[in-house]
Amino acid sequence: MSLPIIKNYINGEWVTSESGDFGDIWNPASGQKIAQVPYGNKTDVDLAVSAAKEAFAEWRETPPLSRARYLFRLKEAFEDEFEDIARVLTTEQGKAIDEARGEVRRMIENIEHATGVTTMMTGYCLEDIAKGIDSSLYRQPMGVFAGIAPYNFPAMVPWWFIPYALVTGNTYVLKPSEQVPMTQNRVFEIIDDVGFPEGVVNMVNGSRDVVNAILDHGDIEGVSFVGATPTAKYIYERCGATGKRVQSLGGAKNVVAVMPDADVDAGMPSLITSFFGCAGQRCLSGSILAPVGEGADAFIEKFIAATTAMQVGDGLDEQNAMGPVVSKAHREKILAYIETGIQEGADLILDGRGLQVDGYPDGFFVGPTIFDNVTPDMTIAREEIFGPVVSIIRAGTLNEVIDLVNTREFANAACIYTQNAGAVREFRYKATPGMIGVNIGIAAPMSFFPFGGSGNSMFGDIKGHGRESFQFFTDTKVIMERYF
Ligand code: NAD
Repeated sequence: MSLPIIKNYINGEWVTSESGDFGDIWNPASGQKIAQVPYGNKTDVDLAVSAAKEAFAEWRETPPLSRARYLFRLKEAFEDEFEDIARVLTTEQGKAIDEARGEVRRMIENIEHATGVTTMMTGYCLEDIAKGIDSSLYRQPMGVFAGIAPYNFPAMVPWWFIPYALVTGNTYVLKPSEQVPMTQNRVFEIIDDVGFPEGVVNMVNGSRDVVNAILDHGDIEGVSFVGATPTAKYIYERCGATGKRVQSLGGAKNVVAVMPDADVDAGMPSLITSFFGCAGQRCLSGSILAPVGEGADAFIEKFIAATTAMQVGDGLDEQNAMGPVVSKAHREKILAYIETGIQEGADLILDGRGLQVDGYPDGFFVGPTIFDNVTPDMTIAREEIFGPVVSIIRAGTLNEVIDLVNTREFANAACIYTQNAGAVREFRYKATPGMIGVNIGIAAPMSFFPFGGSGNSMFGDIKGHGRESFQFFTDTKVIMERYF
């Protein structure tokens, strides 16, 4: 049976890629191929950028409130198709369906925030900067922007950027992750129904060739990227070389501290979600669990009990809190990290390697895995595993945890569980990551706050979404005027 083939969306039309090269899309729960995605090329990108460039002239003259009205209509259409988008997402990515619903909700929240354009895009002015001279500042759209997305949030991450780019008057080219392109394919079907002007929003599928064509394209003003740190750094550097604006969000190694006074029972559901939600494949996932002080043994016992109570299986089954990881190759990578942890002397106290899910013999499952007595220099305490693997590093004091956080190569997020405001203050003041959770295991800023880490987790000045987005997608123009 032939598999469905994903198309590109250019100038308001579904278009077959020029490349003739394809990759497979999998259902990670069943381990079966479900569709094919074109690995597009420079010609595809050129077509999309020229459509977007052409559309820019009229789109920028469309009043901001009229542009926002397209987004209002899109929001309603996404609400209507909410469950369908979530199901497509889980089918190709694997995450539990309820989490997919949460992701679609966050996607829509960015549209809601972006519709505040008539307030958020305004400039400012001052009379008499010198006698009889007035000055004012306008924010103007710049032209064509592009987005390059990772596999772990196929619905939400592209929409950290698209609504703000469009509502400020720019036009757009998206490249979804080639591992999970079906979600945005569904989203663009809805866009097509809503009927944006031709060329305002475009999608080119593919892998590195598409990315490189975007990075080198002279008519693209700026790029938003989310993915692994080596790629994020590469994107940042190449955008610098080709003179583009760039916001480039990278990987993570997040520490979750549990202080002796923490309300462990109240916090346990969010701790479990932090480490095992999305099978550990979130840039905000807990990776290192750092219980502080004497009560560590009792806490770890409770953590293991809550972990083993969690049901793992096909994400489409509402009973399952954790699904498979995205691909066979990624499963192998996680298993190799577990082997490394054992070799380096950590104690494997819960082994998820042998997990079998009834009825899903070929699924890409890794069971929840916990290492105890990990030390900060071990590979599993330094590198991003991006799977359901917990490294427990026992700490004596809060300062030791802060040192642990600040000596990781990444600085995306860090969390602390405690009832002590002084400890919280110390932690948030000294820990370097850009996103901090207090009795919250996934410190995910909402659409109206900026999303992004620090250090090797974020390259560029302006993070994802938040009010700063209106800055990223506009250039300032300052006018000085006088009349004789
Ligand atoms: P990835 O870097 O492998 O891929 C991301 C995108 O870059 C994809 O569209 C891919 O086609 C492209 N790409 C990959 N390698 C490339 C190369 N060498 N040259 C050009 N393009 C390339 O990331 P992923 O595996 O899809 O996503 C997981 C990673 O994303 C994790 O490291 C995770 O922490 C990170 N992430 C970060 C955030 C954040 O907010 N900081 C959010 C989500 C995911």
